[in-house]
Amino acid sequence: MNAQLLQTPIAYLKGVGPNRAETLRSELGIATFSDLLNFFPNRYIDKTQYYKVAQLQRNSAEVQLVGKIVNIKTIDQKKGKRLVATFVDDTGTMELVWFRGQKWIRENLKLNTPYVIFGKCNWFNNSFSMPHPEMELVSEHKNGLKIAMQPVYPSKEKLSNKGITNRVISKWMQQVFMETKGRFSESLSPWLLDALKLLSKSEAIFNVHFPKSQALLARAQFRLKFEELFYIQLQLIAKKQLRKQKIKGLPFDRVGTLFHDFYNNFLPFELTNAQKRVVKEIRADLGSNAQMNRLLQGDVGSGKTIVAVLIMLLAIDNGFQACLMAPTEILATQHYNGIQQLLKGTGIECALLTGSVKQSVRKPLHEQLEEGSLQILIGTHALLEDKVKFKNLGLAIVDEQHRFGVAQRSKLWHKNTLPPHILVMTATPIPRTLAMSLYGDLDISVIDELPPGRKPIKTVHRFDSNRLKVFRFVRDEVKKGRQVYVVYPLIQESEALDYKDLMDGYESIARDFPLPDYQISIVHGQMKPADKDYEMDRFVKGETQIMVATTVIEVGVNVPNASVMIIESAERFGLSQLHQLRGRVGRGADQSFCILMTGHKLSSEAKTRMETMVRTNDGFEIAEVDLKLRGPGNLMGTQQSGVLQLKIADLIKDNAILQTARHYAIKTLNEDPALGHPENRVIRDTYAQLSQNKTIWNYIS
Ligand code: ADP
Ligand code: MG
Repeated sequence: MNAQLLQTPIAYLKGVGPNRAETLRSELGIATFSDLLNFFPNRYIDKTQYYKVAQLQRNSAEVQLVGKIVNIKTIDQKKGKRLVATFVDDTGTMELVWFRGQKWIRENLKLNTPYVIFGKCNWFNNSFSMPHPEMELVSEHKNGLKIAMQPVYPSKEKLSNKGITNRVISKWMQQVFMETKGRFSESLSPWLLDALKLLSKSEAIFNVHFPKSQALLARAQFRLKFEELFYIQLQLIAKKQLRKQKIKGLPFDRVGTLFHDFYNNFLPFELTNAQKRVVKEIRADLGSNAQMNRLLQGDVGSGKTIVAVLIMLLAIDNGFQACLMAPTEILATQHYNGIQQLLKGTGIECALLTGSVKQSVRKPLHEQLEEGSLQILIGTHALLEDKVKFKNLGLAIVDEQHRFGVAQRSKLWHKNTLPPHILVMTATPIPRTLAMSLYGDLDISVIDELPPGRKPIKTVHRFDSNRLKVFRFVRDEVKKGRQVYVVYPLIQESEALDYKDLMDGYESIARDFPLPDYQISIVHGQMKPADKDYEMDRFVKGETQIMVATTVIEVGVNVPNASVMIIESAERFGLSQLHQLRGRVGRGADQSFCILMTGHKLSSEAKTRMETMVRTNDGFEIAEVDLKLRGPGNLMGTQQSGVLQLKIADLIKDNAILQTARHYAIKTLNEDPALGHPENRVIRDTYAQLSQNKTIWNYIS
């Protein structure tokens, strides 16, 4: 009933007007009454409490005090005038300070009259002071309308510059409630409200903006967080079910002679139990009638490649072609070389397609693909070009998914009349919480076991001042026949500087490790692919002992004889990157080492990162720490996904609510897949509306 009214443009709300409406839209995405109501406070100030001056703590939040102003004076400074008042209560004295609006204060402030003041205290020169306090005479304060819990809305500089302060937003919020009479249609089913004892929508919206008590606020927040997460989960799960029912999979019903032949005669090692389990899970998908869309998580070095190879053979066994897409040229090439090696003797043809493959090679390659004589294609996103047509693509494997946008992944779908089965492989451990939100529509397999005989990598943190010692250690390792990586940061914003660091580092290493005893490779992004490959190749073959590089070697590079990873300016790397880099060593039988070099001055976050790396090799544990440090929005490769900008829920703090929401979303769809029951009508309508608005759903193909 209110639906129409709620879609009223915000400019029509009393007191807003077109100018400020535009600011609201551009800064906060608020365009309608409804958007404003769904703009939630991020904290609340408890105004039921009164403090005494003697009780004030450094670093306390906003506080409210009662007392009198006993004198007021203007202090002239180089930087400008400020107005300072002395405020006293029966326990002590503090200063109130104004930098702006001094004239008005001087003229209106009453001395020796009881005031209630409110604001944030600073500790300065051994006493407290409060800049620009909110003030009210005690006499007025007693008569005024009391909101015990005062909401504080997320603010931005641009907003306050335009006079859109917290107070103003609160006022508009009141206005919206008046104009809509505070009655909002329910958006959850009665049985859900019952089961979870949830507040109604109207009560929840009211109490989140104007909490009547702590208890009601908590219930309002619970209800709204639940709702937000519930609809996300509903969307993801519905999508998955739909895919399983509607999108027919290409039938992989043959058991597979190639697969078995390879398994019995060409497998270079016994699979780990985790690898066996994952292969089984994938085979079950392929044997079903639905299209596979599976995420394969496995820490660096856990052996995802062999799984990919086995599955590709299965595709070929069933008369299909397969492709494998990697994010970088180096990685694609390495996959190509490794897989070709593995397939030697099987008679299976595979080819490499990257941006730098010459036209003369491409043409016949395109033809072979189209006629079907080429069975496996490995490459970079060059695979996605329209010119690349398969006769019968049945399986697409995407390695290191976080480098690819979702759009690219979905492009693979259109390479055949029926979408191919898709396996996304990632070495980025994603905490379960996040996996559920980001990949809730994918099935997930995990390789949670490393191949046998690996020695855990020893990680240490060293300061730059210890470089000589580190170099001595490197010399000893090289003497034993090992190879060493030295990695420098290359962050786009400071590319020129970083590049200089890299070259300086290279020169100093070249000085300390002179020819002819030592050979050094260097690889960085500004090199031509051919030169990069040449340098990389020398290192892979063991012709060089030291590889100086930027993070281009981060993903997937496999040199089992390399046993030392030195990361320069390690404080500038995120945890996930550090972990990925460390994963380049520890791939052979030798004891491997990772040395994190940093300056002496470290932020506390950087310290935590170093300590975490030293403490554990477990990618999932590292991912959890990363999630806590940086919040989900910045987590490993999830930046591009808008899903994490939730309105009220927090994926970490509200994990328990997320689990509940998922549980009820699954229950709802299990019992009523089409949402056709009358009692789920509101869910169906809300869901339809949300999907239409596409506000939070458009993050995954
Ligand atoms: P990632 O999961 O990081 O892609 P890879 O597939 O590159 O890992 O495998 C890492 C290394 O481990 C490779 O040298 C590979 O040959 C080896 N490997 C994989 N699985 C096993 C296994 N079951 N037993 C022994 N070595 C294995
Ligand atoms: Mg790999």
